[in-house]
Amino acid sequence: MFGKSKQPDNTSYWIRREHLFRSDNYECARCHVKKDRPTNACPNCGALMKSTKSDPQWVDELEMFDAILGD
Ligand SMILES: [Zn+2]
Repeated sequence: MFGKSKQPDNTSYWIRREHLFRSDNYECARCHVKKDRPTNACPNCGALMKSTKSDPQWVDELEMFDAILGD
């Protein structure tokens, strides 16, 4: 009723989480399930994945690491 889009929203994208001390993993932007590697469709919500976007978590982790060291 409030939707402006009439298209069915069955697409999404992977958010690539880059970590400082761990290997990267991927999060579905739609349902936020996390996977070790990207697939063509989300195994949880079934969205078709159109792209992958980077979200460098290591920036936050590095700040946290600095805070620990600087304490
Ligand atoms: Zn999903």
